[in-house]
Amino acid sequence: MKLPNQICEEIKQYSLSNKTVEVCGFVVKKDDLISFIPVDNKHPDKENFFLISPEDYLKIKKEYVILFLFHSHPLDAPFSNFDLKYQKYHNINMLLYNVAADLFQEKCVNID
Ligand SMILES: [Zn+2]
Repeated sequence: MKLPNQICEEIKQYSLSNKTVEVCGFVVKKDDLISFIPVDNKHPDKENFFLISPEDYLKIKKEYVILFLFHSHPLDAPFSNFDLKYQKYHNINMLLYNVAADLFQEKCVNID
């Protein structure tokens, strides 16, 4: 799925504003309007992991259609095994921004 440039730019800026840790959020849709909503990374080890509180997740899920769950990697690394497990378990499209390489990566739900 092609995201609007403006959304990618917003995500980049947000990641760069906190580039020593993983940041996270959601790309959502409401009334045909796509937007990025940052949420707090609740993981105790933010340099290597991210965690979204169920409260934040449910609040957003109630109000919007979630297109992607987003998080950043400060170092040049692709999706981790942990990320992929999480993606499968929650059956959600995942978007990654690799800060070091300035690269976006997507992992989408398989439609079989
Ligand atoms: Zn990750």
